[in-house]
Amino acid sequence: MPPANVQVAVGIDVGGTTCTVCLIEADGDLIADVSYPIPQVDSAEALLAAFAETAKELIGEVAGYEPVGLGIGVPGTVSPDERQVRDCPNLTILNGIRVPEFFEQSMDMPVWMQNDAFCATLAELRYGAGRDYANVLLLTLGTGVGGGIALNNEVFHGPRQVMGEIGHVILDLNGPPCSCGTVGCAEAFVGKQAIVNRALCKLAAYRDSALAQYAAADPAAVTPKLIADLARQGDEMCLGVMSDIGLYIGQTLCNAIVLCDPDIILLGGGIAGAGEVLFDPIRRTVKERTPISGFDPSNILPCELGNKAGAIGAAALVWERLKAEQ
Ligand SMILES: [Zn+2]
Repeated sequence: MPPANVQVAVGIDVGGTTCTVCLIEADGDLIADVSYPIPQVDSAEALLAAFAETAKELIGEVAGYEPVGLGIGVPGTVSPDERQVRDCPNLTILNGIRVPEFFEQSMDMPVWMQNDAFCATLAELRYGAGRDYANVLLLTLGTGVGGGIALNNEVFHGPRQVMGEIGHVILDLNGPPCSCGTVGCAEAFVGKQAIVNRALCKLAAYRDSALAQYAAADPAAVTPKLIADLARQGDEMCLGVMSDIGLYIGQTLCNAIVLCDPDIILLGGGIAGAGEVLFDPIRRTVKERTPISGFDPSNILPCELGNKAGAIGAAALVWERLKAEQ
């Protein structure tokens, strides 16, 4: 048991489908955490009340800790003063809600809010794979492609919060449609569905690929993870898909490198778990295409904090803001 009244920050990461709540000490030690599906409720107040209840339960489960503040990461944009949710496309019930005010009343502690990519970047910068670096570029590869930028030891998002939206770097002016309404963005090439579509298109020319059996049994079983798994087992077609995806991600990173000159690039999200079959073509592309940058491709690495990064970063936000107030 810790000595009495060790201070902890509460972090809540609200994803599109899952919520994670955690407690961390100022040095990043994770004291407790819990994840569960987002409750299906009909009002923002009921949703936030459920999160507050979980946070209180978690605090109640650990003895000897004193919560000093709460940070919350939301899957969308927040107002510049960080007090109001602007637009959460996957959780519209929160749009317009002044989330910190709700928790300040129900939890009786100071509360800060940011978007989830900001929180994940902050977590990796302070406590994860970026902790020894001041300039970190983070790319999250999932259904969508997100990102974050830390410069001089601070995470930035810009006045309109588009800084770090690396998924919308344009790779091809005549490329496939993107979720943002335009065409040819990185996300349109390396988002989850784009990877699956690429593999399914290639199957016509690779009838003997191991993926063909899975696709014939159930097309929905074809996922980036399955493609990566088969690539690691040496399947030629899946290796080709990972190589193509690596080329596009590498190209995206080349564009980002000349804009923000990072010390290190961290790749997170499910697809980053593919390992060397993906990292190798990414590093090769960056090596070949950015001769002027001096960026060392071996500094392209996986994130360390996994799916807890958002919650840990939300709690880290508490420590950042408390320090700034001192
Ligand atoms: Zn786009």
